[in-house]
Amino acid sequence: MNDGSKEDELVCAVDLGGTNLRAANIDRNGCLHERVRNSTPQSDKPEDVVARVAAAVRDCEAQALKRGARIQSVSVVVPGTVHIETGLVVNAPNLRSVQGYKLGPALESALHRPVLLENDANASALGERWQGAARGHHTIICLTLGTGVGGGIILDGKLWRGPDGTAGELGHTTVEPFGGAQCKCGNTGCLEVYASATAIVRLTRESLAQHPNSLLHSINATELTSERICNAAIAGDELALDVFQRAGVYLGIAMANFVNIFNPEMIVIGGGVSAAWEVFAQHARAEVRKRAFPVPAQRCRIERAKCGDDAGLLGAAWLALECGDSSPL
Ligand SMILES: [Zn+2]
Repeated sequence: MNDGSKEDELVCAVDLGGTNLRAANIDRNGCLHERVRNSTPQSDKPEDVVARVAAAVRDCEAQALKRGARIQSVSVVVPGTVHIETGLVVNAPNLRSVQGYKLGPALESALHRPVLLENDANASALGERWQGAARGHHTIICLTLGTGVGGGIILDGKLWRGPDGTAGELGHTTVEPFGGAQCKCGNTGCLEVYASATAIVRLTRESLAQHPNSLLHSINATELTSERICNAAIAGDELALDVFQRAGVYLGIAMANFVNIFNPEMIVIGGGVSAAWEVFAQHARAEVRKRAFPVPAQRCRIERAKCGDDAGLLGAAWLALECGDSSPL
């Protein structure tokens, strides 16, 4: 029988993405137990999102109760800027239904318990620091190369959110001021338009005509994905290698700036594009060596993330377990 000790307590962490909703019960050791997967409602009503998240939490809770465990708290990862104190989603380009909505209070009244919210890239940085590549480090930068490019900054063990919760938008660092591609943030030449999965596909399409022998001509244009381009690069395809080299150089330019600004112990690279890490890491590292000051460049390890899709869930759980990011790891 459950004696209610702290060790049995779980956090139900929810990763609310633009497309998928994933939830898991996570213990103090960072182990994931019961999992629930669903899709994110594609409606314009925030109440539909609240109902789907609440259903996932109840499902996780019911599964935990069957083995006598209980959920201590709920922590939700959101694909956008979150005002932590009020639970307001300030900006969410990939989940517009909750933009400008007080998601935190709505979930609390649906679930009758406190609910923490955190930005997805920030949560991933915390997850990688707790259970992944950055374990034991105090000052780290985390970049998530997915549909867009997310960023998280942890300084001296503390997540840096900034007074408005908007800090860490590292994907919108300008890396190409002359004729740079349009970014959906409104700026041009952002890192995101050169190093995200979306960018890899666009850069490949733009260069197909110049590489008539590329393996990628055999793929239907609408079925071209960053995974397929990554596989082609690993197989030695010149076009794919060229695209990842360019992405790596732009990533390196941005990282050289982060190295000079923050003097981080580590930069962690996650997200779907990191599957091609072996292909572009050398180009990114060379650019950092070329541009950053030698002392911080020597210090900074640049590594691939280790937690995969679970980084955000783990970071959310850590925030709930430690009752805030000021606690030491
Ligand atoms: Zn941008």
